Amino acid sequence: MNQTPLPNSFRSGPDEDGRFGIFGGRFVAETLMPLILDLQAEWEKAKADPAFQAELESLGKHYIGRPSPLYFAERLTAELGGAKIYFKREELNHTGSHKINNCIGQILMAKRMGKTRIIAETGAGQHGVASATVAARFGLPCIVYMGATDVERQAPNVFRMKLLGAEVIPVTAGHGTLKDAMNEALRDWVTNVDDTYYMIGTAAGPHPYPEMVRDFQAVIGKEAREQMLAAEGRLPDVVIAAVGGGSNAIGIFHPFLDDAGVKIVGVEAGGKGLQGDEHCASITAGSPGVLHGNRTYLLQDGDGQIKEGHSISAGLDYPGIGPEHSWLHDIGRAEYVPIMDTEALAAFQTLTRLEGIIPALEPAHALAEVIKRAPKMGKDEIILMNLSGRGDKDIFTVGKILGMEL
Ligand SMILES: *Cc1c(COP(=O)(O)O)cnc(C)c1O
Repeated sequence: MNQTPLPNSFRSGPDEDGRFGIFGGRFVAETLMPLILDLQAEWEKAKADPAFQAELESLGKHYIGRPSPLYFAERLTAELGGAKIYFKREELNHTGSHKINNCIGQILMAKRMGKTRIIAETGAGQHGVASATVAARFGLPCIVYMGATDVERQAPNVFRMKLLGAEVIPVTAGHGTLKDAMNEALRDWVTNVDDTYYMIGTAAGPHPYPEMVRDFQAVIGKEAREQMLAAEGRLPDVVIAAVGGGSNAIGIFHPFLDDAGVKIVGVEAGGKGLQGDEHCASITAGSPGVLHGNRTYLLQDGDGQIKEGHSISAGLDYPGIGPEHSWLHDIGRAEYVPIMDTEALAAFQTLTRLEGIIPALEPAHALAEVIKRAPKMGKDEIILMNLSGRGDKDIFTVGKILGMEL
C-alpha cells in the first residue's frame, strides 16, 4: 500500500519527481534524462507565463472552437427515467475529439523550446491526425510512428495524416501496435535530441508528460464546472469518462477532485470479458509495473511481458493507464469499472437514435455506464459525461458488426 501521507488536496500532485503516491516517476534511459529534465524546466516556466497562457487560450477559442457546449440530453434522460444527463461536447472540437487540446498545448511547448521537428506515436490514428494538424498549422515537419498492423487497420487516418503533410512510419516490431509505436518514438527522440519534440498523446509517459497533458486537458473540466453551475446552480453528483491512456478522463475529473460530493467514475474497455486477454481494463484486471517511463497499472503476464489487449474501440486499447488514475484508484477517490464491447455498441446506437449524436466508440463506453446508473438515481440528481469524440471514424466498424451494406 501507499505509505506516503495523503495531501490536503487531491489536485496538488505530482511531487517534484513526478510521483502520484507510488505511481508515475521517470523511468527512462540515462540518455533521455536530460531531455525530460529540459522539458520539465520549460514546462514550469510556461505554466507561469501569462503570454503562453494567452496564446493557448486564443488558439483554444479560435482554432479549436472552445468552449465546447454543455448539453442537457433531454430525450435520453426521459428514456432512462432517473438522473439528469449532461454531456460535455468535446466531439464538436476541430478534428473531432479532445486530442487537439493537448496537441495545441504541446506544439506551443515545442515552439518555446526552439524545436523544429515533431514526432508522435499513434494507435488508431486519432492522435496522429491531431499532431499532423497542429504541425501543419505551425509549419513544422511531423513524423508519426504507427504500428504496421494499425497502418493497415486505420487506412483513412493514415491518408489524413499524409494529406496534412506528415510522414507515417510503420513500426513492425512486436505486434505492430500502439505500444511498439511508442517505443519507436522514444528511440527516435534519443537519437535526435537537439531539434526534436516528442508529442505524447495521452496523460502517460515519464514526468512531466502526465501532469502537462492533464493540465492541457483540464480545460474540459474547468469549463464544465462553470457551465454546470450556470445551468443548474450546483455541481453534478457523478462525473463519468472513458479511459484509454486517461487524458480526456483526467481532463474532466481534475477540476472536480476536491469537490467531496462529486463521485468520479472512469470506464475501462472490458472488451469481450475480463476472464481472458481480450480486454483493456488495466486497473480492473491489471497489476502495477513500469511501462513507457512510468509506474502504473498494466496488462502484463507473470513474467512482466506486456499483453496486447483488445477493445472494439481502437482508442481504448492501450495496455497501461496514466499514473494519476492508478493513484486515484488506490486512494479510493475515483472508481474504475469495465464496460464490454457489446454494451458500448448498444449505447452507441441508443445515443444516435435518441439525441441525433453519433458518438465515438470510446465515449460510448462511458455512455453505457451512464445508462446503467441513471435509472437507479433520483430525478433531482445529475450525471456529467465527457463526450470525448464523434463517431464518424467508427461508422465502418459499427456497420460491419451490424451487418449493414454500404
Ligand atoms: C484517443 C481517444 C480516447 C482515449 O484516450 P484518452 O487519453 O484515454 O482520453 C477517448 N476518446 C476519444 C474520442 C479518443 O479519440
